[in-house]
Amino acid sequence: MRIAVLKEQAAGETRVAATPETVKKLSALGAIVAVEEGAGIRANITDEAYREAGAELGSAAAVVKDADIVMGVQAPDAAALSGAKKGAWVAATFDPFGQKDRVEAYAMAGLEALAMEFMPRITRAQSMDVLSSQSNLSGYKAVIAAGNLYGRAFPMMMTAAGTVSAAKVFVMGVGVAGLQAIATAKRLGAQVSATDVRSATKEQIQSLGAKPIFVENVEGIEGEGSGGYATEMSEEYQKAQAELVSSHIAKQDIVITTALIPGRAAPRLISDAQTATMRQGSVIFDLAVAQGGNVEGSVADEVVEQHGVKIMGFSNTPAHLAADASALFSRNLFNFLNAFWNEEKKAPELDEEIGDAIRLTKHGAIVNERLQE
Ligand code: NAD
Repeated sequence: MRIAVLKEQAAGETRVAATPETVKKLSALGAIVAVEEGAGIRANITDEAYREAGAELGSAAAVVKDADIVMGVQAPDAAALSGAKKGAWVAATFDPFGQKDRVEAYAMAGLEALAMEFMPRITRAQSMDVLSSQSNLSGYKAVIAAGNLYGRAFPMMMTAAGTVSAAKVFVMGVGVAGLQAIATAKRLGAQVSATDVRSATKEQIQSLGAKPIFVENVEGIEGEGSGGYATEMSEEYQKAQAELVSSHIAKQDIVITTALIPGRAAPRLISDAQTATMRQGSVIFDLAVAQGGNVEGSVADEVVEQHGVKIMGFSNTPAHLAADASALFSRNLFNFLNAFWNEEKKAPELDEEIGDAIRLTKHGAIVNERLQE
């Protein structure tokens, strides 16, 4: 069983899909792990460290040659994998809804694409869930990055020269990233409030010591769809939400938006008119900027100033924490292979529930139900 780890090719990608720790663990299962030279350098991992952990180092072509499994953070171009075994697995994120051509190319190449972002949100798959591990770090980084742009402090400080008041932070969308954003802002001493369309998050917000801000008295809505994800909301709800946000946002210093709906563009949560109500020097961090943006006017990897408010968001937030993000991502991949490892065959075998959920292509065809819709 040969496992290949390539240097990521996407612009701005700093992460790597294996670390010396996971190379050791995969080797202990009986796999040969081959790592492209320089693959870990942007995550502060040297070739030497991989070698010491037992990896073979080489060029991309040498590493991929006869690979049974290729691991990636973002799936490489299918063309780069022509030397891999027929039907080789590629375990990575694929952005399956956004990059349909890539999925087609994998099918044409006869590869088995395993989309890690389609991992079901079930208890036994938690340790394999790259969306959670990366979102968690993103929620943290959003607060730190927003704090960097903010010309004031987070905590209340009583000094001999007078009092500095605490920053007011509002988190919109309380999934994994939002919960970590709340926790981070609280740890820094901010006054934190948060909102979501899923009423189940109310208690979670309170348990972190933050104030829930919720649309009440709008009938016939339930923001929770399948798998615990959000659904698109009714027009009536969206109107009520916009009014509530307008009145609340005007009093906030920092807003972190994290709202996503799987397979669709991110919902628009903050209009330009709402931004205009905020104080001069306020900051909005749009974690959904790469999925179309929650905030009108946000541009990936730029600080846009509107009405004296700074709006920003990264196209790839976890890439700004390359070492930790790689460590967690690669553990997710190891946990995945390890959970399905067949000791006798020294190879993984997927079960139906998880295999069907994450497999995009097999035997030359696109096989995933979510891509047939
Ligand atoms: P996500 O990244 O898909 O979305 C972020 C948040 O935005 C969600 O909480 C969503 O409800 C919210 N949102 C969507 N539209 C909104 C709107 N118009 N206004 C305000 N908020 C809006 O979410 P996620 O972090 O991937 O989490 C999704 C679900 O999966 C949650 O229920 C989470 O608890 C669950 N989860 C389960 C597991 C597991 O059991 N293995 C692991 C991770 C997450």
